[in-house]
Amino acid sequence: MILIPFNKPYLTGKETAYITEAVASGKISGNGIFTKKCHSFFEKRYGFKKCLLTTSCTDALEMAALLLNIKEGEEVIMPSYTFVSTANPFILRGAKIVFADSMSEHPNVDVDKLEPLITMRTKAIVVVHYAGVACDMDKIMQLSKKYNLFVVEDAAQAIESYYTGKDGIKKPLGSIGHLAAFSFHETKNIISGEGGMLVVNDDQFIERSEIIWEKGTNRSAFFRGEIDKYGWVDIGSSFLPSEIVAAFLFAQLEHIDKIQEKRINLWKQYFEALKPLQDKGYIKLPLIPTYATNNGHMFYLIFDDIIQRDKLIRNLKDNKILSVFHYLSLHKSPFFQSLHDGRELCCADFFSQTLLRLPMYYELTREDIYKISSIVKNQC
Ligand SMILES: *Cc1c(COP(=O)(O)O)cnc(C)c1O
Repeated sequence: MILIPFNKPYLTGKETAYITEAVASGKISGNGIFTKKCHSFFEKRYGFKKCLLTTSCTDALEMAALLLNIKEGEEVIMPSYTFVSTANPFILRGAKIVFADSMSEHPNVDVDKLEPLITMRTKAIVVVHYAGVACDMDKIMQLSKKYNLFVVEDAAQAIESYYTGKDGIKKPLGSIGHLAAFSFHETKNIISGEGGMLVVNDDQFIERSEIIWEKGTNRSAFFRGEIDKYGWVDIGSSFLPSEIVAAFLFAQLEHIDKIQEKRINLWKQYFEALKPLQDKGYIKLPLIPTYATNNGHMFYLIFDDIIQRDKLIRNLKDNKILSVFHYLSLHKSPFFQSLHDGRELCCADFFSQTLLRLPMYYELTREDIYKISSIVKNQC
């Protein structure tokens, strides 16, 4: 029996009532009332130009790859230390992935090492806001301008997190790149089981994004009365989730402030409890750069080596507590290693071996955190 799981989906209480409402309305396919409510929630709260719910963040990234017209052999730069879904959508379009290393002190991509990776064939940079903590977007957007590259934010973990640039303006993550993708998978802060969203910030992609979303048809424009018949006008797929998923998601969004407050509070409790160990140099705690905010998505520890890290996994497991490591560097994955150009990506490999995620979910208690922290302390 597990005492403290790694994740536990939190229900606000309204999910099933809204699903019942969606079912009773007689329309349960996509792009109905609840989908529209979710879209306008995001567009209002974060000032995103255009939002489209998708069945996953993976799907939103597939839409991004289609929108950018990625062609065989074009290059896309992205961190190696990320989930496969950052890369797969571009591989599916025939792109050549050029993996970049992380910073030494944070798993986010090292923006100062990106420029030498840019070639005549580079089409886009995909950044991942790891643990919901912003990448240094000013530098990324400068590269984008200088070399005419598109920027896609994999904001899967980054809901309700912000970046403050040199201009002093605090921008929500997902609003900075040309396109962005969020996840509502049950392991994220705001959930719908499986689910995601594409955000379109660049006007040139708005019209086509709806068409790709609706299987390559101009159905959305038809339902708005802008055209008198709809048909097949482009490539596309079935990226939109049903109203059942949107109804669930809307119930979560109504409680976003409460969910965020609780998660950030838990995060701070972990930080307070474990800070003495960081001060003594035994472990490293998550770093939040001054330009970034913390959205309480994840609490992780970094050890000096894999031996210490794996020892804690076992110690926690012996106490019926689940922790997880993740992201084996993608450039060394069984699928990609023969395609990689051989560059060493030391920091990505380092985090693969030394990072450990501790349990983090709404219903985690002060006592749970005390118990987990005591086990970490005993080992150090
Ligand atoms: C969770 C996650 C994804 C995938 O999200 P899905 O909604 O499960 O497709 C992609 N990228 C990152 C960085 C993630 O954390």
